[in-house]
Amino acid sequence: MEGYEIADGKGGEIIITGNDERGLLYGVGAFLRAARFQPGSFAPGAWRGKSAPESPLRIAYLASHTGNWYENAPHEAVQRYIEELGLWGYNTVMICCATEQFASFSDPKAQKLITHVRSILEASKKIGLKTALVHCGNNTALGTHACPHKPGVRERLLREWTEVLEAFRPVALDYACFWPYDNGGCNCEFCRPWGSNGYISICKEMAAKFREFNPKGEVILSSWRFLAGEWHNLYDVLGKDPGWAQYMLANSCRGFPDDVAKANAETIARGTPGKLTLMCFPEISMAGMYPWGGRGAAFRTEAVKADIAQARKLGVASIMPYSEGIYEDVSKVLWVQAFWNSKRSVDEILEEYVRYEYDPQVLPGALEVIKLLGTMQEVSLKSKKFSALETQRGKQCGDFVEQIEPKFPAHVRASWRWKLFANRCRLESCLRQGRAFKPDGAYTEEAKRCLDEISKIYCVDERTLPFTKPGILDRKAGGKKQVVDDETPGVKHPKKKGKAK
Ligand SMILES: [Zn+2]
Repeated sequence: MEGYEIADGKGGEIIITGNDERGLLYGVGAFLRAARFQPGSFAPGAWRGKSAPESPLRIAYLASHTGNWYENAPHEAVQRYIEELGLWGYNTVMICCATEQFASFSDPKAQKLITHVRSILEASKKIGLKTALVHCGNNTALGTHACPHKPGVRERLLREWTEVLEAFRPVALDYACFWPYDNGGCNCEFCRPWGSNGYISICKEMAAKFREFNPKGEVILSSWRFLAGEWHNLYDVLGKDPGWAQYMLANSCRGFPDDVAKANAETIARGTPGKLTLMCFPEISMAGMYPWGGRGAAFRTEAVKADIAQARKLGVASIMPYSEGIYEDVSKVLWVQAFWNSKRSVDEILEEYVRYEYDPQVLPGALEVIKLLGTMQEVSLKSKKFSALETQRGKQCGDFVEQIEPKFPAHVRASWRWKLFANRCRLESCLRQGRAFKPDGAYTEEAKRCLDEISKIYCVDERTLPFTKPGILDRKAGGKKQVVDDETPGVKHPKKKGKAK
């Protein structure tokens, strides 16, 4: 399934063959990445052979909400981005559709939201990718924690889920993914512990409803933010009653660290509850920078390496990185390629990305700068005093861009990927050399130029919430405690982060 072959034909022909429709897409992607193009010339790469993915399900979860790029970008841009994710090896796109924020499904705003997110899935189907929808177990217009044991609530939850399924009928959903918390959950005596009790009882009914609409559809059960006891109970609960769900989404990399560690140890010892296929949910969007992607392209290569190694240790077969925007594009690629072929190293994939998405001549300078940017995983920067080393690193990033950019063909200079990389470098350079702020605390023209360009690329407008709006902040001084997973190990998160997933 999904593999391809690139072979020589007669008279200099190169033949790309897919084992199926998606296989052809991936073959074309590999062919394009091996080739070199300059204005006026195209030289195919030398690689010939066969390749097929090791991981069966490679989902890009594009969280289209809170005025981020996925919600705000023009349809054609989203379509194109999905095509590019397909070329790199994703086979499914998942979206969320938070209709519970509206009093009724027929609210024009709810209908507008549905039309938009459905168009993302239509774009996926158009190029042969599969589609998935995430749905919270007990989110309803009644509230985000409606107890399914209260009179009439279970019926209402199922009725609203049926309305959602009806609205998404045209895209023939391949997967439904149920979500326990953030939002969701009930701690009443009948539901608790929610993750292995109330949640399971409502999800099982929703899964049956999903199959009425999509008989071949499969169910992904998320264990996001489960406590270790909830995970432990699932061995019993799903062991007795398997079959209604196929994939178990484990919070393998983040969450409540002690509970995740316990659940991970149990998974290594016993496999997945109910023998479901284990899928991981890497955090690629919200770590290390605040606002998320707020200073441009994010490079967290070392963290991604550690998370991939952890996922392999757990026996993860499938992946679903969580994406809040296009600024972490490189992390999406690292994950999908690492699970296409486990023999490929993250460094090798990164090199391929830099050559193909920017320009071959940026190597090896770009790799050095990407490593430096990886040391700048900070969320409170406005009033920070930088050491001489940090200042020097910032300057090096900025100098690199000024020196290399004039050598690029126009199409590279104009591409959003390069612009997000270049503006990140420029911003770190001016910030770390003390040129980002005027004495009154306002941005300098230099910093503002970079932030404006990033905002334009993100399609920021009045819908965009602060956590994806470009800027340089002191997060701790923000008053409101926005909890975001960061790189600090052992941090307990007292509250859930962000908005509904
Ligand atoms: Zn309850």
